[in-house]
Amino acid sequence: MELHNTQSLFIYNSISKKKEKFNPINKGAVGMYVCGPTVYSNVHMGNCRTFLSFDLVFRYLKHLDYKVRYVRNITDAGHLENDGESGQDPIAKKARQENIEPMEVVQKYTVDFHQTMSRFNALPPSIEPTATGHIIEQIQIIENIIKEGYGYKVNGSVYFDVNTFNKDHQYGKLSGRKLEDMITNTRELAAQSEKKNPQDFALWKKASPEHIMRWPSPWSDGFPGWHLECTAMSTKYLGQQFDIHGGGMDLKFPHHECEIAQAEAVNKKSPVNYWMHANMLTLNGKKMAKSTGNNILPDELFSGENTVLSKAFTPGVAKFFMYQAQYRSILDFSNEALVASEKGYNKLMDAYRNISSITTADSSSNDISSWKQSCYDAMNDDFNSPILIAQLFEAVKYINTLKEGKTSITKEDLDLLQQTMQAFIFDVLGLTDITTEASGTNDTLCGAVELLIELRDQARANKDFATSDKIRNDLQEVGIQLKDGKDGTSFSLN
Ligand code: AMP
Ligand code: ZN
Repeated sequence: MELHNTQSLFIYNSISKKKEKFNPINKGAVGMYVCGPTVYSNVHMGNCRTFLSFDLVFRYLKHLDYKVRYVRNITDAGHLENDGESGQDPIAKKARQENIEPMEVVQKYTVDFHQTMSRFNALPPSIEPTATGHIIEQIQIIENIIKEGYGYKVNGSVYFDVNTFNKDHQYGKLSGRKLEDMITNTRELAAQSEKKNPQDFALWKKASPEHIMRWPSPWSDGFPGWHLECTAMSTKYLGQQFDIHGGGMDLKFPHHECEIAQAEAVNKKSPVNYWMHANMLTLNGKKMAKSTGNNILPDELFSGENTVLSKAFTPGVAKFFMYQAQYRSILDFSNEALVASEKGYNKLMDAYRNISSITTADSSSNDISSWKQSCYDAMNDDFNSPILIAQLFEAVKYINTLKEGKTSITKEDLDLLQQTMQAFIFDVLGLTDITTEASGTNDTLCGAVELLIELRDQARANKDFATSDKIRNDLQEVGIQLKDGKDGTSFSLN
């Protein structure tokens, strides 16, 4: 495949706060690390937005023909609540509540996460390492941090000494925070802590007697700190310096700041060339979060079972809704916005399907090559999916005028239009159109819907409009649209 350069990709780098031309360390290859979920509960739509934002990045890089190694971890240990000493381990807490093993909690929610991602048609990462599978690597890094003079031991725990690190490096360069200000703001906390300084963070925590998830180490039976796992796994699979590191905006501080500090402490170089942060999905103007209950779960969306929703929405529509905002903008979740997205999504899919029935001519009234370039320009501008979608709707308009015979297109241009639409809708945005896949996995569904269409036709022939309306309305409720045309009734799923 040709390398679809097509001109240059620019990425907004959170550390420089600028859009920068993307130059990978190794030509033609990209190393990307994205912080994965902490698996103690079902992922909500907010979490999904971040993972889908990076699915788009992964897909577009692959589409540009880069060889991408995409590492996304599973946090199955060490992520304490409130990021602090007094915080509980949410996995252990859930295990106690449900009277099961912590690893059962981990398994249950890892499976849920995978199922959800696959319903959204997100590609699996190239490597999905777990924190518990990398304890040895984490212990090694702690030993090195201590050796370099940036870690200290207290009562079997080990902390990163932010103050000492800041003398030789700049702690806070990603988040733009200043250590002096942080110290002023947290003076009162200092006395209650075994840490030298409230800004210091745990590299290793000694486990309390009831803490089940524990491993032997030179310091105590305990468990590693959350920030450390990402340093260990990104370094192991992508090297001491790699191209892209992503996560939600809320991970910028302290999580990613601490990752930089740990990596610089041992490797003496900045670990990441491009830091990418996806913005938050909100509900009623507030961040969706597990802890506050202000969230919508994917299953609630797919079933319509939430008071916020008037009906069920398919994963494709939800994804389309999310990609109508750029990944760096805050996006508010609402039923109205989803209903509008559903309409747009159907229009797009209908137009795509209609391409095959267009008759070609000797000339084209639109410049398809320059339209194609506009699609690339949108994605090259920091993965600007809403602009890409606007370009796809330009094509929808054109397709509709072609269908009505108002404009013309050559065979060559029609092929280019079709291929470009296909590449961006299905490969890059990763949307699915179940009806066009009907000959494959969805034979059963299509068979069932066609039977219902037949029964509806019979009902209409018998003037039993109550039944025919019921069939149409109930199908609509579950996301199947019937359309009556001169060649009979067709259906679309969204
Ligand atoms: P967690 O499992 O809490 O570590 O979160 C997994 C990912 O979801 C992280 O990258 C978070 O930044 C991200 N995230 C959490 N809440 C939201 C939200 N409301 N909108 C978008 N991303 C979120
Ligand atoms: Zn991380």
